[in-house]
Amino acid sequence: MKNFIQLLIPPENFTGQSIILVYHDMEILVEKDEDGNPIPEYKKIRDYYDLSDLPVPIGIMKGVYYSALNVDDKMEIPENTKFMNVRHLYRTTNEDLFYLAGLGRQISDWNTTFRFCGKCGSRTASHTDERVKICSNCGHSVYPKISPAMICSVTRGPEILLARGSKFTQPVYSVLAGFVEPGETLEETVEREVMEETGISVKNIMYFGSQPWPFSSSMMIAFTAEYDYGEIKIDDKEILDAGWFTPDNLPMLPTPYSIARRLIMNFVEKSS
Ligand SMILES: [Zn+2]
Repeated sequence: MKNFIQLLIPPENFTGQSIILVYHDMEILVEKDEDGNPIPEYKKIRDYYDLSDLPVPIGIMKGVYYSALNVDDKMEIPENTKFMNVRHLYRTTNEDLFYLAGLGRQISDWNTTFRFCGKCGSRTASHTDERVKICSNCGHSVYPKISPAMICSVTRGPEILLARGSKFTQPVYSVLAGFVEPGETLEETVEREVMEETGISVKNIMYFGSQPWPFSSSMMIAFTAEYDYGEIKIDDKEILDAGWFTPDNLPMLPTPYSIARRLIMNFVEKSS
């Protein structure tokens, strides 16, 4: 994320603008009016919520200090606001704020989930030097969990393999993705997932880039690969449909700010 400094404690003597992002599970509090700035102003949040349980620092972006507050109640909310899935923020915000809001959710969720030690059940405390929670009794430490997942475009000459996942909330088609299992190299994950989900064998697996994807605390590690052999045979538990698409015949695509979309656009650019 550009122009972003992560913070573990609130900035000292800060006189700039502050914003508190309010979360309830996967949702974020936004203004009901979708035309203006979607994130409610600091004053609105401060006047409504009890902030004695201090919001968790996230960081400073473009001179604005952001922190996160997790609330249990999603019915009692400030006037003219509503809760919305964080993933849908891309419709009304820029890329930086979209990721910042995702990161805020990830951090506040971790902060709420690990208030107690998983080993002995005592209270944990946050550290001021790094993002870790340490048990006050046994010293067990818990860092934010990040799950590595591969995502891969598979091309066959002028075509790209895209699939519609059964968990997608919209009828989008995307490149294939899957979590890395213990003991696997990333390339092995690519081969296994593509084979499991579509029955296609791939070759020439090349690294493309990476993207933290905070909506499930994942790290997406992207690859490109070429079709080797096989016919499409979908795993109908995870995939509803899959097919080969040409640049002039693309279906509905995933979120613009996702690396999945970048992989697909990379294929389109190379084809032209
Ligand atoms: Zn403990």
